[in-house]
Amino acid sequence: MRDTLSLLDQVPFPAIRRGKLDTLQVNVGYRCNQSCFHCHVNAGPNRTEEMSAQVADVVLDFVKRRRIAMLDITGGAPELNANFRHLVTEARKLGTKVMDRCNLTILEQPGQEDLAEFLCEHRVEVVASMPCYLQDNVERQRGKGVFDGSIRGLKKLNALGFGRDPRLTLNLVYNPQGPALPPPQASLEADYKRVLGENYGIVFNKLFVLANMPIQRFGSTLVSKGQFGDYMKLLRSSHSDANLDSVMCRSLVSVDWQGYLYDCDFNQMLGLPLRIAGKPRAHLRDAIGRDLDGNAIVVRDHCYGCTAGQGSSCGGALA
Ligand code: SF4
Ligand code: SF4
Repeated sequence: MRDTLSLLDQVPFPAIRRGKLDTLQVNVGYRCNQSCFHCHVNAGPNRTEEMSAQVADVVLDFVKRRRIAMLDITGGAPELNANFRHLVTEARKLGTKVMDRCNLTILEQPGQEDLAEFLCEHRVEVVASMPCYLQDNVERQRGKGVFDGSIRGLKKLNALGFGRDPRLTLNLVYNPQGPALPPPQASLEADYKRVLGENYGIVFNKLFVLANMPIQRFGSTLVSKGQFGDYMKLLRSSHSDANLDSVMCRSLVSVDWQGYLYDCDFNQMLGLPLRIAGKPRAHLRDAIGRDLDGNAIVVRDHCYGCTAGQGSSCGGALA
């Protein structure tokens, strides 16, 4: 895979600082049952990084002592981690909201037959990747058979009440096929609701529209095709200062499978740790008693992917 970090230091991104922390985003490992073309994690079935039970307990300690409002669990396919259900169950007992970034096809994997019921029982907010409502586009990004598996997964979630019952949130995630900015979120959400509703009887709450980050598999492909420079120009020229106030790193901190901290999942994948008091990297256990408010955020040119156009975050458009 081609390196992109060395290409992300061309035009300085504005300095930004942390605000109040409300979300702990935990990447429990890079193993996944899929190997999507646009994956910023470079996840796949052969990745071996997995969060241990000891680190999962540090996560729960942090959630409890810092009264974290939202535990956002991601991967890879986070449900494949042996400690996933423990994290969910214990965090919910603490009254913390839990979000599962689910690829939908995991719901049919051996050993995961009861996953949808588990998510339902614990009122986990499901955020599911669905980069198009058309089969060809989904399978070009995510692999053959993924569209039908995703539709079956959505139907299963709907049957349990996700997307219908106000206590069972089901949000979908769109990202563009290639090096272009995403279309306006509201109109695309209306298209998704119409097509998925009419063709498959599927309902969901919101569509989160995300820009592709010029890193890992997607960034590497852009470099190979000679499109990296043009995509970066597009992101920089579409930058809006108004989005700086709401980029997700102001209120979220990202934790890797070993418990080290980053300002966001993208920085985690680039190996750019969160800096506390000038230290090269910090562990979650060192941050339990430390206030991160006002801490400088580590930025590079990929950050323009968060501020271009309508803006982009794990929760969709910022504008
Ligand atoms: S994009 Fe999601 S589903 Fe696809 S390989 Fe990456 S982690 Fe797995
Ligand atoms: S890439 Fe990460 S650090 Fe940069 S603006 Fe986006 S969320 Fe913040």
